[in-house]
Amino acid sequence: MTTVVEQVWATLEHLTDPEIPVVTLRELGILREVTETPAGVEVVITPTYTGCPAMGQIEDDVKACLEKAGIPARVVTRLAPAWTTDWMSEEAKEKLRVYGIAPPHTTRKEVNVIQFIRRPAATDLVACPRCGSTHTVVSSQFGSTACKALYKCLDCQEPFDYFKPY
Ligand SMILES: [Zn+2]
Repeated sequence: MTTVVEQVWATLEHLTDPEIPVVTLRELGILREVTETPAGVEVVITPTYTGCPAMGQIEDDVKACLEKAGIPARVVTRLAPAWTTDWMSEEAKEKLRVYGIAPPHTTRKEVNVIQFIRRPAATDLVACPRCGSTHTVVSSQFGSTACKALYKCLDCQEPFDYFKPY
């Protein structure tokens, strides 16, 4: 006997990010909570990036998916606490790498505050998702989307997206 909450998780299990079709919303940490309230089932999602244009799309996708499964549920967008790349599962980071996007480094809040005046440390090196080389340079702070930066690998010469820690 599965509960409605379990049904919702199972239904949404394979929903992927509109921009990165290889990772699911659950793996990215966007799908936060499914709870049963007196008013019905509530699905909580948190945007990956406040200005992310994909967010409306994600909410629509979740709603459409639940509707198709015949599960009446409310989708709630929660902005606090803000999404962080730390919520991304290791599995998701590995999938990003295979897809050709360098996964985000774990954020260190105390360090991030002064990141603008700090010289890049060795730990900030972004490894090329293709050859693993850390001999890489930023070509643009904005890649295919605002959430990513465009990098170039100096060893294999391939450009790639880096999912910025957030
Ligand atoms: Zn490379």
